[in-house]
Amino acid sequence: MVDERRGQDPDGLERLWTPHRMTYISGEDRPEGGYEQPSGCPFCLAPGRAEPDSLVVARGEKVFAVLNLYPYNPGHLMVCPYRHVADYTELDAAETVELAEFTQRAMRVIRSASRPHGFNLGMNQGAVAGAGIAAHLHQHVVPRWGGDANFMPVIGRTKVLPQLLADTREMLAKAWPEVA
Ligand SMILES: [Zn+2]
Repeated sequence: MVDERRGQDPDGLERLWTPHRMTYISGEDRPEGGYEQPSGCPFCLAPGRAEPDSLVVARGEKVFAVLNLYPYNPGHLMVCPYRHVADYTELDAAETVELAEFTQRAMRVIRSASRPHGFNLGMNQGAVAGAGIAAHLHQHVVPRWGGDANFMPVIGRTKVLPQLLADTREMLAKAWPEVA
């Protein structure tokens, strides 16, 4: 479903990003050993950063929710375990439960914020299946609106200004504890 690799193509739009915030997106900053090692893994590094630069929307015991740097739609976020594991079957029972709970809450929060018509939920398991960062499991939560598929390829190539991502993070983070 979601091909994250498209976001890693180098192009002239990367200058739109705030460099200190998103250094890992550009090829020259790709860590030695790539994203496979925890030391270079964006999903291991994000929780160590402070908000808002981390783009983390909510932090749980075992999992956290973080905005996608290359959103397919506004509000596109991912729920990740803190633990650097690749495969869904590697999650323990507590991680499995909290990942599901965070996914449900993310849907409620996005609904309250932006009234999408539907969602795509899912995990790409393995690079062959479209996972851009295959070494660290992440569940996509993508809000959908009628007709958005017509311009999704355009959106997918568009780098959202960091300020817009920061605004989205702020909105969702504020709603996260409030939504029933
Ligand atoms: Zn990781």
